[in-house]
Amino acid sequence: MKSCQIWGDLAADRIDDQYPTVTVCDACAEANQQGENAAIVAVVGGYDEGHGDECHFCDITREEEAAAKDGGDL
Ligand SMILES: [Zn+2]
Repeated sequence: MKSCQIWGDLAADRIDDQYPTVTVCDACAEANQQGENAAIVAVVGGYDEGHGDECHFCDITREEEAAAKDGGDL
């Protein structure tokens, strides 16, 4: 899990709404940083529970991601 700044509502008044910081799983962080339609502006750091414990894109939780890695299925 990582904390990532994403493209939000650019018409919003607050910078927090324009570029909100959300929790993103490792797989989505990699997939959404590439290309023209990349949804992620920047990876700002590691997991921060203040942004929630579910991936913004695929809704996997931190526990589920850890379990998947332990199981070696992915
Ligand atoms: Zn994800």
